[in-house]
Amino acid sequence: MSHTQRPLEVACPQCSKKVVWSEKNPFRPFCSDRCRLLDLGAWADGSHRIAGEPAMDETEIDEMILRAERGLQAPE
Ligand SMILES: [Zn+2]
Repeated sequence: MSHTQRPLEVACPQCSKKVVWSEKNPFRPFCSDRCRLLDLGAWADGSHRIAGEPAMDETEIDEMILRAERGLQAPE
């Protein structure tokens, strides 16, 4: 009998760390209890947004920083 079953790996939804999906991991698909709780907490306090109200994304943050820097360097 060959037991060369390779462990299935998934990315933790909270921190994107590689997690081995096994029965030994009660937190799967999370890497740890902490991540699992963090994710649940995020849902509870509404940081996980469903459609409609887009959270500020990186592009907007970049734009804001750019604008702030421009304002500092060359006041109009
Ligand atoms: Zn994690």
